[in-house]
Amino acid sequence: METKLGVYICKGCDIASSVDVDKLVEVVTGEHKVPVCKTHDALCSAEAVDIIRKDIESEGLNRVIVAACSQRVFPELFNFGSDILTDRANIREYGAWAHEPNDEDTQMLVEDYVKMSIIKMQTSEPAVPLIEETSKEILVIGGGMTGMTAARAAADAGYRVHLVEKEAELGGWARKFKAVFPKTPPYESLQDPGHADLIKAVETHDNIVVHTNSRIKSAKGAPGKFDVVLKNGSEAPSFKVGAMVVATGWKPYEGKNLGHLGFGISPNVITNVKMEELAASGEIIRPSDNKPIESIAFIQCAGSRDQDHLPYCSSVCCRVSLKQAMYVREKYPNAKIYVIYKDIRSPQQFELFYQKAQTDDGMFLTKGEVGEVRVDGDKIAVDVSETLLGEDITVKADMLVLATGMVTTNKPDDIPVAADASVDPAAEIAAVKEAADESTLEDGKKAAASAEKGAHLINLGYRQGTDLPTLKYGFPDSHFICFPYETRRTAIYAAGPVRSPMDFASSTSDAYGAALKAIQAVESIAQGRAVHPRAGDLSYPDFFMTKCTQCKRCTEECPFGALDEDAKGTPLPNPTRCRRCGVCLGACPERIISFKNYSVNMVSKMIKSISMPDEFDEKPRILAFVCENDALPSVDMAGIKRMKYSPFVRIIPLRCLGSMNAVWVSDALASGFDGVILIGCKRGDDYQCHFIRGSELANYRMDNVREKLTQLVLEEERVQIVELAINEYQKLPKIFDDFVAQIEEMGYNPYKGM
Ligand code: SF4
Ligand code: SF4
Repeated sequence: METKLGVYICKGCDIASSVDVDKLVEVVTGEHKVPVCKTHDALCSAEAVDIIRKDIESEGLNRVIVAACSQRVFPELFNFGSDILTDRANIREYGAWAHEPNDEDTQMLVEDYVKMSIIKMQTSEPAVPLIEETSKEILVIGGGMTGMTAARAAADAGYRVHLVEKEAELGGWARKFKAVFPKTPPYESLQDPGHADLIKAVETHDNIVVHTNSRIKSAKGAPGKFDVVLKNGSEAPSFKVGAMVVATGWKPYEGKNLGHLGFGISPNVITNVKMEELAASGEIIRPSDNKPIESIAFIQCAGSRDQDHLPYCSSVCCRVSLKQAMYVREKYPNAKIYVIYKDIRSPQQFELFYQKAQTDDGMFLTKGEVGEVRVDGDKIAVDVSETLLGEDITVKADMLVLATGMVTTNKPDDIPVAADASVDPAAEIAAVKEAADESTLEDGKKAAASAEKGAHLINLGYRQGTDLPTLKYGFPDSHFICFPYETRRTAIYAAGPVRSPMDFASSTSDAYGAALKAIQAVESIAQGRAVHPRAGDLSYPDFFMTKCTQCKRCTEECPFGALDEDAKGTPLPNPTRCRRCGVCLGACPERIISFKNYSVNMVSKMIKSISMPDEFDEKPRILAFVCENDALPSVDMAGIKRMKYSPFVRIIPLRCLGSMNAVWVSDALASGFDGVILIGCKRGDDYQCHFIRGSELANYRMDNVREKLTQLVLEEERVQIVELAINEYQKLPKIFDDFVAQIEEMGYNPYKGM
């Protein structure tokens, strides 16, 4: 289809008072021969938007450039439908607001942004959604409080739900609990877990199919079309679902690991899970001789907040011990309770619950370091130092309860919790390349040798593994800052303690959140739209397969397992698993992966469209590839704050730094750019890239670029990667200015003008 472009330049927001808009119009209509180019005092006004709409109709425009504010401002106002490709040339935040007004360099800069936008529109196509027949049914794995709540939430919203529970009955841990700590004001008295009513509601719901005594045998396919087969005795029921909620919960940290706290020295040393069982049975008696309890001690953080065991806090154990202490006081009003803690953590309104426990004269709570735990006659003796009393004490009690923490069921049993799951991508990729023993999935696809072993809760048919990838300590979350329920598998959400230790109240709100995400996923997928973070994006990667060398770079680096491969290593795309990050585009050395509106060719041409002064003009040019998720908002914010930085920098937003194809750096240097700076998310588990590890992949790819620079006798420092958090915009001017100064000191790119 013929490209018919209209360019609309805004004169408001100090743009017209900072740059020569008429000259900008000349660039558009003269140099680039764009037939429709108009200016307006405020493009965001209803009148201006109406003008654009009318031009689309009367002039038959199918491409529109709004040269005005950032793409992050008014996205819906300038959305003219999926057939009209629209780009935002940011001449406000990147131009007028960040640079000196009426300055030659500012003028050159905004002209470059408009030129790049024109090229972008001329090399892009409107994305055509991939509409396939999909299922909107939802699978919920785990029939505890979280799973039942998620199932009911989705079912109430009109979606058919399959709820799969491995036990014979629904209810999970709630069924085994005598009571839970208070969920409602005044947060002082214990409450019923509330599972009975929920079980009834779930079992009688028209939209919920309950599968008890069942596990997932396999879940092959992709979002919108997962083929699920269950294992249920000798039967194997099967069905199709579009999305999943994994609510498989937690398992207790095992007492057998806590010999140093006395576990195993006497039957009277038990875990809090065993204590709950005793309480629920109505018989809180000493296991060794079935005698009533006269005294009981609790050791808090038993294995928790301990680098050798569970390095994290499970958030519930303190309140569980207070609750269990109340059970004992209720049954044996004269019993003495000793609680030895590192800190008592009873956050939010649960402070009131803690205060209630503190008022009980029978409860002795002390901070302290636990020393030796031993059998002393028919008692358990615990030496405690550094107590609040200022002296070392020995607590003697009939029973000792170890307040153990929660371990996610996502973690395979044979992997230690404290193992660091962070993976160096270079090492991982090298490992895959070296591995010769790749196994074949049942349907002829290849599973990578590096595939995660997984806890076999879902049994997916992905080359990367059968389950949700495990992060630190085994949790499956993907981006805890922005998307709490999201995992690294599209349309599969984690809710409740499987994703983070939490109590029933938090699990319930988690379940609603995950159910809503699953609903969003099935609806988006049915319309061919991406889910978060590029929600609504209709583009997806196209592969020009005839040129594929089966190098497996894309299949290895796709962070979301969207690319399987056949026995020869040819990628087998699963578009509905794809999050449209472009990491595969960045990975492919053959440059055969592209999106309709994002491609190697498009960015290469944008780079080449930038005017390049020669070295005698003494105007260096720096190209900045900026991740659109976090770094781009920082650049916008710097502009909004009118912070000034070098006008020699040209910014190109990328979907993710991981989508940076190394050829763009070569193109930039060959075009005469003096330096290239890449700005992306911080690395590491505590600040996660929206696409998992974009900065790490960019860094890994830069190794090749650095090698090339050396071959060209160019300084490695001409290409740099900077990590920037979304709220660190104050640092940007210095980052840009320092880099420009460094380049000026180094001297201009000797290949400039060649
Ligand atoms: S765009 Fe991202 S998620 Fe999609 S196939 Fe490529 S690497 Fe995978
Ligand atoms: S990275 Fe490119 S060449 Fe390599 S397997 Fe993927 S598509 Fe083929």
